Amino acid sequence: MTPTAVISDIHANAEALRTVLADIESRGIKRIVNLGDIIGYGPDPLECVDLVAEKCAWSLIGNHDFAVLYEPTNFNPGAEQAAFWTRDQFNADPDEKARRIRYEFLGQLRVRVVETFPESELPVLAVHGSPRRPINEYIFPDDVMTATDKMKQIFERIENLAIVGHTHVPGVFTDEPDFYPPEELGSMTYSFEKDEKAIINVGSVGQPRDHDPRASYAIFHPDRVEFIRVEYDIAKTADRIHAIENLNDWLGDRLYEGR
Ligand code: ZN
Repeated sequence: MTPTAVISDIHANAEALRTVLADIESRGIKRIVNLGDIIGYGPDPLECVDLVAEKCAWSLIGNHDFAVLYEPTNFNPGAEQAAFWTRDQFNADPDEKARRIRYEFLGQLRVRVVETFPESELPVLAVHGSPRRPINEYIFPDDVMTATDKMKQIFERIENLAIVGHTHVPGVFTDEPDFYPPEELGSMTYSFEKDEKAIINVGSVGQPRDHDPRASYAIFHPDRVEFIRVEYDIAKTADRIHAIENLNDWLGDRLYEGR
């Protein structure tokens, strides 16, 4: 049995990331992959990039990683200011070699990965946002009611399973279309069926938005995915955000509410 832990949307929250990594290690899981948005919003971009580079088998590029490396696309003013502050932190590291290694790491982040996880038979498509607009498109739970054409087009791009992040809301989309939050699945677990399509959102490590402030990630087994929530010291991250002028206070406040 070789499970893979899938993490996403760390958003420079090192406190949450370290807690999640410790939880993964305590379960004896050796393989971790990351669906993007390592940075942006949070106070610890350098540490988070270094940890992900060290611990993850592969990582995707999210819209916030893209914004720091290139330029923000359709960001609100607070998010844009956070992206520019984040870029300044990378540039301010006096260690030239560390600076170069981080930019090289950010530059090789992948837009999409298709892989069959160890001992599984189902190929999985991994993107940050959606299969048709991999970096920027959101697949919202409400889309199953209000955007059925969009959902149909998205499911046409998927062979069996897809894994995504980006909305910071964990759960499973089926091609009915329907959406199941983890707590509506028995034991927070979704079992795969051979001839069925599903899109699995693993939620966010560093900035959950489903009104549950605990860090979210998922564990992929050959036949099922298990959603995990972990408590971490929110005040540590929020206090650091509040102390940084270029990070809007709301970015710290929202962590307590998970929204
Ligand atoms: Zn994100």
